[in-house]
Amino acid sequence: MIAGIDLGTTNSLIGVYESGFPTLLADTDGNRLTPSVVHYGADGETLVGREASRMEALHPERTISSVKRLIGRRFGDEGTEGIAGSKGAPVTIPTHGKNLTPEEVSSEILKKLKSIAEQRLGTEITRAVITVPAYFNDAQRAATRRAGELAGFTVERIVAEPTAAALAYGLDKLSDRSKVAVYDLGGGTFDLSILQLDHGVFEVLATHGDTQLGGDDLDEAVAVLIAKKAALGDLPLESQIRLKAAAREAKERLSTEESFTLRLPFLTGGNTGEGKGGTNLEIPLSRAEIEAVCEPIIRRTRAHCLRSLEDAGLRAEDLDQVILVGGSTRMPLVRHIVQEIFHTEPNLSQHPDEAVALGAILQGAILGGNLQHVTLLDVTPLSLGIETFGGLMNVIIPRNTTIPTKAGEMFTNAVAGQSGMTITILQGEREMAADNWRLGSFEIPFPPSPKGAARVGVQFSLDADGILQVLARDTAGGTEKIVEIKSAVEVSDEAVEAMLAGSLEHAFEDMDARIFTEARLKAEEMLPAVEAALEQLAEELPQEEISEIKAKAAEVTSALEAKETARLKQSLAALDQATQTLATKLMEKAMG
Ligand code: ADP
Ligand code: MG
Repeated sequence: MIAGIDLGTTNSLIGVYESGFPTLLADTDGNRLTPSVVHYGADGETLVGREASRMEALHPERTISSVKRLIGRRFGDEGTEGIAGSKGAPVTIPTHGKNLTPEEVSSEILKKLKSIAEQRLGTEITRAVITVPAYFNDAQRAATRRAGELAGFTVERIVAEPTAAALAYGLDKLSDRSKVAVYDLGGGTFDLSILQLDHGVFEVLATHGDTQLGGDDLDEAVAVLIAKKAALGDLPLESQIRLKAAAREAKERLSTEESFTLRLPFLTGGNTGEGKGGTNLEIPLSRAEIEAVCEPIIRRTRAHCLRSLEDAGLRAEDLDQVILVGGSTRMPLVRHIVQEIFHTEPNLSQHPDEAVALGAILQGAILGGNLQHVTLLDVTPLSLGIETFGGLMNVIIPRNTTIPTKAGEMFTNAVAGQSGMTITILQGEREMAADNWRLGSFEIPFPPSPKGAARVGVQFSLDADGILQVLARDTAGGTEKIVEIKSAVEVSDEAVEAMLAGSLEHAFEDMDARIFTEARLKAEEMLPAVEAALEQLAEELPQEEISEIKAKAAEVTSALEAKETARLKQSLAALDQATQTLATKLMEKAMG
């Protein structure tokens, strides 16, 4: 039996496929959602879930929440501010005098889920499918896999959350080429993915989002509203945490009720008026009031939806379905805004906070052979390629390519006598290699060859888990090297955002830099060739043609020195034109 697990930032779930149905498993109190919170008690006991959440207000320093934000990250990445550590090293979290890795903390959550399932089923569960956001990079996926292994699971597959959700909504039954948008607003993150069904297979066409936007921000806004209505002053940390929990409760209640009276019997401190250090507050709240403060936050999801549509080359009208994922989409206002963005009613047939876990269970059943085969496909968040002569990025697997995938290209040596090539593996959207991220590099040797004579084939293959293998082969000599890139990718999701923003911002200069470099390489090749040809054929050409060619060549040299792209291109074209006869003569001579 293979369990399906949604390891969420805020909440986690586990379930199995039982007698023909995907079933979520509840703890002994009947809760299917386990808060992704771990508390390390002073007595050495580790609490996970609801019990750990309760300890958060009392011992925030011993309690870890939202650890998913840190998994697979390095110090210096966004989200790691406030934790001391040397830049570039894998993140560790100081807790009760120990330094814990995010995967150790995550493994506590997974162990808890494992024990819930084993208790319910009365049997050991050792195999699991775990979901991750579609934008998770190799390092984040590999760390999630390690967390599963630390918890005692064999991790059968890491699956993207939107594809799992689509499976749970039964969208694999839609007609071929159907397009689906998955709107996922959880506790702390938002993403919008666009999928396409192709012969029963989901492909992720595009994914976009904000890792710092979710229900927590809505709680914060509601807490500010409550504090204002109750004229609360500065509160101690513990009271702030309690106020936030109360705000969350109010927000959730107001998704189904029109109004609600919040009772705050515990708040101490602040100018609550009674002067006794503790006051019972009763604050009436209406749905309209909280919607007013939440609306600007929810509206921030719109830009990401539009960006995803654009990346997928689609208009909202091209979508066949819009599905909702994540607890925050239970808010009527969210549903309303989604409808506005996509001009269509979202599909409400599943519980939004359970869909991802249900999909993971179904994927587990497929892998275990209990369900007819449906393959889930994922997508590359950024382009992958190698550095070529002149410091240019040569893309081999473009951004948003469905994985698993394989692609290759043949390269040659740019310099005569060269006896090897450095293969530098890059990730990113910028035209110049130096502006992209280096994932690694290695040498491939070949016998010294004249310029352009060596042939090195480079092949990239990305497997279903997003692990990259780069193979380089000298086709003449037969030397071959393979390098595997598992967690070398120091790319955080914010960094992906920043890379995309950078590629747009610098699109024009980047394009100019590439065109200039290409023209420069051509000029550096052409000038000595023209000079040599002139020397060889000096007698056979009229003097005026020779001076014209020389003038044109001088113009190329001067454009090159002035680094003027347009002028360089023009002068190269002119030199090309002027040397037509020269080239023909050279050819005739060569052929005797
Ligand atoms: P994640 O995927 O980030 O782990 P979930 O999908 O479980 O999280 O979403 C958790 C968020 O959903 C929390 O911010 C919670 O307050 C919010 N949420 C849950 N139920 C409701 C509801 N009925 N109305 C509004 N928000 C809700
Ligand atoms: Mg989620």
